[in-house]
Amino acid sequence: MDLAAFFEPHSIAIVGASRKEGSLGRVFFDSLLKYHYSGKVYPVNPKAPDIDGVPCFASVGELPEVPDVAVILVRKDLAIEAVKECGEQGIKNIIMITAGFREVGGEGIKREKQLMKVVRRYDMKMIGPNCMGIINTHPAVSMNASFSPTEPYVGNVAFVSQSGALGVAVLEMCKALRLGFSIFVSEGNKADLADSDFLEYLENHEETTVVTLYQESIEEAERFRKIAASLSRRKPVIAVKAGRSQSGAKAASSHTGALASSDLATEALFKQCGILRAESIEELFELSLAFSNQPIPSGSRLAVITNAGGPAILATDAIERNGLQMASLSAKTRGSLRGFLPEEAAVHNPVDMIASANEQTYRDTLKVVMKDDGVDAILIIIVRPPVNTTPRMIAEGFKELLAQGSQKPLFVVLMAQHDESCGLEIFQELKLPVYAYPESAARSIATMIKYKEWKSKPAGKVRKFKVDKGSLLQIFEAAAADRREYLRTSEIQAILGAYEFPLPFSRIVQSKEEAVEIFRSLGKPLVLKVESDDIIHKSDIGGVRVNLNSPEAIGQAFDEIMANSLRVTGGERIVGVLVQEMISGGREVALGMNRDPNYGPMIMFGMGGIFIEVFKDVSFRIAPLTDRDATEMVREIREYPVLEGIRGEKAVDFDLLTDTIQRVSQLALDWPQIIEMDLNPFVISPQSENCKIVDARIRIRF
Ligand code: ADP
Ligand code: MG
Repeated sequence: MDLAAFFEPHSIAIVGASRKEGSLGRVFFDSLLKYHYSGKVYPVNPKAPDIDGVPCFASVGELPEVPDVAVILVRKDLAIEAVKECGEQGIKNIIMITAGFREVGGEGIKREKQLMKVVRRYDMKMIGPNCMGIINTHPAVSMNASFSPTEPYVGNVAFVSQSGALGVAVLEMCKALRLGFSIFVSEGNKADLADSDFLEYLENHEETTVVTLYQESIEEAERFRKIAASLSRRKPVIAVKAGRSQSGAKAASSHTGALASSDLATEALFKQCGILRAESIEELFELSLAFSNQPIPSGSRLAVITNAGGPAILATDAIERNGLQMASLSAKTRGSLRGFLPEEAAVHNPVDMIASANEQTYRDTLKVVMKDDGVDAILIIIVRPPVNTTPRMIAEGFKELLAQGSQKPLFVVLMAQHDESCGLEIFQELKLPVYAYPESAARSIATMIKYKEWKSKPAGKVRKFKVDKGSLLQIFEAAAADRREYLRTSEIQAILGAYEFPLPFSRIVQSKEEAVEIFRSLGKPLVLKVESDDIIHKSDIGGVRVNLNSPEAIGQAFDEIMANSLRVTGGERIVGVLVQEMISGGREVALGMNRDPNYGPMIMFGMGGIFIEVFKDVSFRIAPLTDRDATEMVREIREYPVLEGIRGEKAVDFDLLTDTIQRVSQLALDWPQIIEMDLNPFVISPQSENCKIVDARIRIRF
């Protein structure tokens, strides 16, 4: 989407600009002027001749040109009319600051619908309503069309925020951290333009090298996913998604399908499109600092140089905890350091220059360590020096050394109150990201490397399986006509069969004699299960008997199953007994699908059996799944090593497993009637002929 007219407008009309000090109409007008906006500003206000000497217009109809953007600040009962007038004049881009729409519920929801009608009728684009505006710091534009009293530093981080107030607070905090912005957007209610539109625009926005997002909701998940995935391949996208906590309760639900809650869906979606999820606004800053200032380290070996021992130990711990390594310094490096560091100093990694280190010591040490081939990145720890020097002087001391840039990514941990003597602006000038704690620095570096790994892997493909859908629609229609939520085994078998899922031999019988006959002709141990619409969890009521190896055992099992079933339902409700071949010697895994109203089919993978509900060792992705998604899902669970084979066992048939996961994805996309699916257990082993889905539940919507 081309939003250049919004972000690089030649002229802006402010409908509702005001002379009154302290009013929104005034603050907005003032910020635009104060930030030296390069285009023309047209205040529109029928009651004022001018604002601060800038002539006012009585209506948008009287403007000398059609402005690129109209900002609407009037009262909510006048707002829609104002947009209509803009439409009549041919204005195509609206920033609706006015609040009192969907966010207030009731009347507001209606008002927003009316507003959108007008926007569509005139083929306009709109940011908001209920937003704080937008900023573009590019010197050629220099536009602060927002309420933000803070004028951000020019930089390369774009920030798209669903919350206006938070956005403004963030700009303020970033100023303190000296983090520069390219674009800021407060999205408000996202009635028209939403995240996807802005992300799409930012993909080709040259000044932006890092994209950050604060989200409370995600619209049009499928489009968002496509756009975000494509953007992530070019620039890191860092998001804080609020609304995590709900998930706790949902995830605790005992049904496997309900293990999928919306936050898990968000998590899955982010993974699939490479979005780096920040746990907090603080982490969002930290990551932005790292990505916007330093290149991604080419490896994970870190060197630490410090003037104090304690923080260096903390750093070492944090580095290893985050999956990074402490580099081992070469003999040459250690020798050179020995040449000028005091005797008490440590010349292995971490390099402890001790408290007497001054700006020369830092510079010389950095210079030596930078040359070590065994080091991929350097963490410079500065604890406020007791004597000799200040952090500012240390930063000054780096200037010459870093004049041509650094061969290695550098990160600074500055453990001191950020006052004048810290010289933050000098660190900023040198593009050195400054962290308050070693843990945050290590976390950011680890995320950079994770991002690089994500990008380096091929995007993955969605496989298309050939399916004979023949009579499947009738199955769904028949079940819906009967108002049956859960499909019958015969129906499930027809569906899964059409998608070529690996199924065991199964047949429904009415007598033990039939079962024994199957046993004789198959020559394999059997499993017997009750088949009834009333019994969803069969083993709970004693409706399953496994590993039946003789006619006697089969006969007895048949009788027991019938007797147990008759205790919970009437004889006429029992369709028969399902006879299956026994699949032994494998591991039980579970595949599931739960249709999320917002995100679409969430596919689940985990170890099967009862423990799934206790340990929740499961992974999720949203359909359509790529082959890469399926592989990652399998590798992600904690019990993955069990599937790889322990104590000399062979690995299970992973190709068949990931193939089957992708079939679940296609089945779910083909049939929106299916709202939940549970293939549990799927018995898998090293031999493909021994991998079968022995139980399946499909729940439909009607
Ligand atoms: P439900 O989930 O309704 O209780 P299942 O069909 O899943 O019934 O059977 C319960 C358990 O019995 C399964 O989790 C599995 O451990 C075992 N089982 C069922 N069918 C087979 C089979 N064909 N081969 C091997 N084990 C089976
Ligand atoms: Mg089961």
